[in-house]
Amino acid sequence: MSSQSALKLSDESLARQPDEVFDVICKIGRGSYGSVYKALHKESGQVLAIKQVPVDTDLQEIIKEISIMQQCDSTFIVKYYGSYFKNTDLWIVMEYCGAGSVSDIMKLRNKTLTELEIATILSYTLKGLEYLHSRKKIHRDIKAGNILLNNEGHAKLADFGVAGQLTDTMAKRNTVIGTPYWMAPEVIQEIGYDCVADIWSLGITALEMAEGKPPYGDIHPMRAIFMIPTKPPPSFRNPDKWSPEFIDFVSKCLVKNPETRISASELLKHDFIREADPYTVLQKMIGEAKEIQEAQTTALSNGEDSVCSSR
Ligand code: ATP
Repeated sequence: MSSQSALKLSDESLARQPDEVFDVICKIGRGSYGSVYKALHKESGQVLAIKQVPVDTDLQEIIKEISIMQQCDSTFIVKYYGSYFKNTDLWIVMEYCGAGSVSDIMKLRNKTLTELEIATILSYTLKGLEYLHSRKKIHRDIKAGNILLNNEGHAKLADFGVAGQLTDTMAKRNTVIGTPYWMAPEVIQEIGYDCVADIWSLGITALEMAEGKPPYGDIHPMRAIFMIPTKPPPSFRNPDKWSPEFIDFVSKCLVKNPETRISASELLKHDFIREADPYTVLQKMIGEAKEIQEAQTTALSNGEDSVCSSR
């Protein structure tokens, strides 16, 4: 079975101990709630990712993350397969994205992305956002660290820890959640916000992929929180380096008034995205990142933990 096809865990296998159902291969990374492992589904041979979260952490955020992922069925969103309790941990079984996040890849290669690479990643992300927004779900934490790539080069939205569901009775949300540098002005100002808050964050993510960090990334988060709503929308540090289409795309995302900001469906028709290359343009970048990661893991290996040397 390829890493692409969806996995259906039967009721019988969901009732078993997770270590009977999966072989944990190695550790992929650590997040604020727990660690993520590469694992094998023994019965099908399919490779998966398992997030292990200690149950003594505040499970409310995790349960929200699971519930949003569970309701989504899109190739542009990381799939959720099921959860287990094992001793003091909750195991969350999900689709494996072998190349890691866009931010992981930038750090490994110590390189920003080309316009072609950015356009391809943005087109996938926009399809994920179009899917979420049409179901009145807001991601609320769009950034390069939450866009994962699988080994083929397909980009998928991940990390629904702070995602939200707009209901009919609650047209707009008014709580401050998310990562400051990527936050839309209306989110910071707590004046209520909706799906287009993700579009602002997408514009910031485009600048992050082009320049290596978001605007105000060098300044203290508390100061950035003050500047985002008061200053004009940010743009490129060095506009001469970029095409007019890319500059126009970012300026359409970074409109301060949410009422006049563009939607995901409209952005999918933008020239910058319509002319994007297929996922295969990302394969070179993924291959290079993997080589660097293998070399680093071999150099650092002290044999004590099974950190993945190659995804
Ligand atoms: P935070 O929890 O603070 O948001 P994070 O997003 O890095 O941080 P996790 O979601 O726990 O935290 O992920 C940790 C690392 O594991 C990520 O950097 C990513 O590279 C990797 N990872 C997460 N989910 C998957 C997945 N489904 N497939 C492959 N790698 C993954």
